[in-house]
Amino acid sequence: PATSLQDIVAHAKEYGFVFPSSEIYDGLQAVYDYGQNGVELKNNLKNIWWKAMTQLNDNRSGGPIVGIDAAIFMHPLTWKASGHVDGFNDPMIDNKDSKKRYRADQLLEGKAEQYAADGQPEKAQALLNEMGRLLGDNDLEAVRELIIAEGIKCPISGTTNWTEVRQFNLMFSTQVGSVAEDSNLIYLRPETAQGIFVNFLNVQKSGRMKIPFGIAQIGKAFRNEIVARQFTFRMREFEQMEMQFFVRPGTEMEWYEKWRDTRLKFHQAVGLPAEKLKFHIHEKLAHYANAAVDIEYQFPFGFREIEGIHSRTDFDLKNHQELSKKKQQYFDNDLDENGKPFGNYIPYVVETSVGADRLFLAVFCNAFTKETVGEGDSQKERTVLKLHPALAPFKAAIFPLVKKDGLPEKAEEIVKALRSEFRVFYEERDAIGKRYTRQDLIGTPFCIAVDYQTLEDDTVTIRHRDSMEQERVHISELKAKIGYAVSE
Ligand code: ATP
Repeated sequence: PATSLQDIVAHAKEYGFVFPSSEIYDGLQAVYDYGQNGVELKNNLKNIWWKAMTQLNDNRSGGPIVGIDAAIFMHPLTWKASGHVDGFNDPMIDNKDSKKRYRADQLLEGKAEQYAADGQPEKAQALLNEMGRLLGDNDLEAVRELIIAEGIKCPISGTTNWTEVRQFNLMFSTQVGSVAEDSNLIYLRPETAQGIFVNFLNVQKSGRMKIPFGIAQIGKAFRNEIVARQFTFRMREFEQMEMQFFVRPGTEMEWYEKWRDTRLKFHQAVGLPAEKLKFHIHEKLAHYANAAVDIEYQFPFGFREIEGIHSRTDFDLKNHQELSKKKQQYFDNDLDENGKPFGNYIPYVVETSVGADRLFLAVFCNAFTKETVGEGDSQKERTVLKLHPALAPFKAAIFPLVKKDGLPEKAEEIVKALRSEFRVFYEERDAIGKRYTRQDLIGTPFCIAVDYQTLEDDTVTIRHRDSMEQERVHISELKAKIGYAVSE
């Protein structure tokens, strides 16, 4: 049976991956906390991304990438320059009966999905085109009329009693300074990218970087999403892993294509199967982009974006130059075809932007498996998280068969030998079958059982999570075996 999002949400909570925020107060919509296992999985994802970006693109590669960690608060003009103050809006509409708020574009997309599911793909496409045109023209009255003409009902009240459509800015704001003094409105960043743009010259100069090069960052971003559902797919506080790659104007398409392909491979390397990933090319481009593609993953609720790759031209740096009155130029002393230096220019940017929480959800959904194992009378259902060993919260669990006769002490020795390299878990309670089951539920790839034979010949039983096969190995082989699986 297909896995539902409810199964995923329930499993994530029950086994310490993701909890609703402030749950004792009935939670806060679209905000989540990562639990003891979730934080490990998420950190593993972030570390793999960081390494893939920075360590593997060193200064001997064709385009080195270095990291930064910029503040969440930024000068208010940043968001003027980036276009977020004026343009970071979603069209919203309220149902007068249920008093519920919806995103007008999502209501229409839902209708289009219905048409497509009913075997009317042309009608679906026509509706999406019409919607794109009206939103592009910011003709909000016509968007409302379209919603009514399509007979779109509020899922709660079942009526079509809609208010007008209004643009709603997604940025959260707060004040700096004490209230008595002149307080200043500032925003919680809605993307991490701007922290990179405003530091472009700092990094370039202090690191003596030559174009092409990139800057990577992992950090929190905040968006006041109107309709927040689908678990950690759309949160109000979330984490982005972004990389801005600075290139000579005219070379951006090569880099765009390179990054598009590199990023797809990354998602496959963390275990997402090729058939559940696809590109979605943007035909209608954002004001700042000259090419854009999303990498989509097939969630239980359909193919949805997990990462965007955008060719952003010099839009951001040019606007920062204009508003800050500080030159954002780079002097390129490489020679062009006429033997002259390329000279001064504002670099173009190709960015890759992936949500850590969305990637987490994709990896979690993909790993979550319910299967029937065993044969005949011993057939049973099991739930197992088939995470790539590199992502698993624990790499191995170590079990003494019984709690006596020196077996716990022997198991403890193995824990001590492994724990500086791998996160491992020691467990001596309950029957060994139960202990295996608990590790399956959190995705531990190896269980190591210590028995009486271990005391004699230093061999243990390794039980493999996915195949449930067991093999006998010498204790001295454990490090290499686990290490190989983690790094593969
Ligand atoms: P969407 O269309 O789904 O709102 P977007 O196109 O606005 O996403 P970008 O601005 O391109 O998203 O952000 C880059 C990445 O940040 C996305 O691919 C996604 O993984 C992540 N992201 C954006 N908004 C959220 C959110 N509200 N919750 C979790 N992750 C998010």
